[in-house]
Amino acid sequence: MSCGKPDHFDYGPQPDVCFKDNNVHARKMNNLSKFNQSSSDISNGVSTKITERKHLSRRLTRNEVAQHALAPHIHYGYPRIDSFVDGLQSMFRLHNETVNIWTHIFGFICTIGFLSLTGLEYQNYHIMDSVMLTVFAVCCALCFTGSILFHTFKCYSYEIYKLVVMLDYLGIFVMIYGSFFSGLYFEFYCQSTERTVYQVGITILVITGVIFSFSPKFDDDRYMHYRLGIFFGVGAFAVIPMMSVAATEGVGRVAKWFVLLLLYSGGAVFYVTKFPESRFPGRFQIWFSSHQLWHGMVVAAALWQYYSLKHLHVEKSMRGCKVVDDGLLMLLSSYW
Ligand SMILES: [Zn+2]
Repeated sequence: MSCGKPDHFDYGPQPDVCFKDNNVHARKMNNLSKFNQSSSDISNGVSTKITERKHLSRRLTRNEVAQHALAPHIHYGYPRIDSFVDGLQSMFRLHNETVNIWTHIFGFICTIGFLSLTGLEYQNYHIMDSVMLTVFAVCCALCFTGSILFHTFKCYSYEIYKLVVMLDYLGIFVMIYGSFFSGLYFEFYCQSTERTVYQVGITILVITGVIFSFSPKFDDDRYMHYRLGIFFGVGAFAVIPMMSVAATEGVGRVAKWFVLLLLYSGGAVFYVTKFPESRFPGRFQIWFSSHQLWHGMVVAAALWQYYSLKHLHVEKSMRGCKVVDDGLLMLLSSYW
């Protein structure tokens, strides 16, 4: 890929050379240093332009960033990461990953809130109810942590990218598993057979997905459709227990899960279509890109599911239904 200005977008002042390797990067820094030094005697107006130039150089165009960090239809605003510390500092700079990072920091803070509430109220809960609410919150926290690391360091180097992208994919599976496991526990509170069957089913699906995610080919764009297929296949599994509940207790009973499915599906539409930046070339580069909207939907889904689980817990507890002493949980606990 060549360096230089893109053909038809206005990116403002551009650096002279690209940052695709360390040698070129070093030459760039050397050039900038000489340029700044020689400009110390010139007028304030020109100095201001130099300051703008240095500021802009913290954000790269797609012609300047490494291939692995490119996002479809995102033409500029990529963060330049020079070191691990610089990566952490970049969280507080504005670039096309800033919103991705902070939406999931917000989600992480919310999950800490979930854990704190569960801890404060644990005396009022059956022990397994507390465990399931905790499992959900911890799985969400792990997912958000993987995502924060990915979006903070994906532009650092290819080696780091390979590590953090794996954490990102694993985090998605962990969150899916925690969401299903806790949801099935509370929805089938008194029906151990159904609960066990569905929990075994989702366990097999997620393990299959995780094995696939560890394949070296998993991150290859040629296999993107397989990757999305696995995610959607696991997510679509939710339809089966939903139909079971709707058949026995009425369609209204699954409304909360339908809302959850809509949130994830809506987010997936943004993720796949890359709307709005695919429809409006050169726009939505820093704010409101498709991936940011996907992140927002995921956080909304996590908040909605926590509300639903709490609601279900109160409802099932008031019915006086005891947690049955068989099922996958009890099977597993017998080995602990
Ligand atoms: Zn993301």
